[in-house]
Parts: sequence; C-alpha cells; structure tokens
Amino acid sequence: MSVQQEAAVDGEALEVWIDQDLCTGDGICAQYAPEVFELDIDGLAYVKGADDELLQAPGATTPVPLTLLTDVVDSAKECPGECIHVRRVSDRAEIYGPDSE
Ligand code: SF4
Repeated sequence: MSVQQEAAVDGEALEVWIDQDLCTGDGICAQYAPEVFELDIDGLAYVKGADDELLQAPGATTPVPLTLLTDVVDSAKECPGECIHVRRVSDRAEIYGPDSE
C-alpha cells in the first residue's frame, strides 16, 4: 500500500462512482457491498444514495463509509469491467480503481 493509500484510509473522506459504460452487469459489487451498489432493471450497477435510491446520473458519487471500505475496495479490485472508481473527496484523486497509481 502506498503512502497515498494509507493517508486515504487514515481518516480521509472517500467517495465511489461507477462508469456504467464499462459495467458488465455481473453483480459482483452488489454481492460484496449491497449497502453501496445495486443492479437496476437495465442490468447495470449504480451507487446508492442516503435513502437507498440508485444514483443514475453519469458519474454520480456516494460516500464510502469507513466500515464498508474493505468491501468497496474489494469490489473495485474484482470488478471485471474495471469501472468502479474510489476517490478522495478533497481533491478527487483516485485511490482505488483503474485510474489509481
Ligand atoms: S462489479 Fe463492476 S462490472 Fe460487475 S456489476 Fe459491479 S460495476 Fe458492473
């Protein structure tokens, strides 16, 4: 784990978004972290907002609770579409996902 990643885990607020253009609809993310991800009837995964509603605007983000960080990071690592992006809220730097270091 890089210094940047440790800093992110150590109290930095993180958020996650999905690039639906690359989503294969396999549902791995929704299995790992159903509190954060859900498949819609269109067969694609979306992040969920505070009221459990699916956020369907392109690039929509939702906060990553610290208690779910491992599940969300595992989702990003296992995502076959490589389309789950976890980034730092403060500067939008990607911490986990296809665009991270
Ligand atoms: S794991 Fe990735 S490809 Fe699979 S449903 Fe979730 S976002 Fe889509």
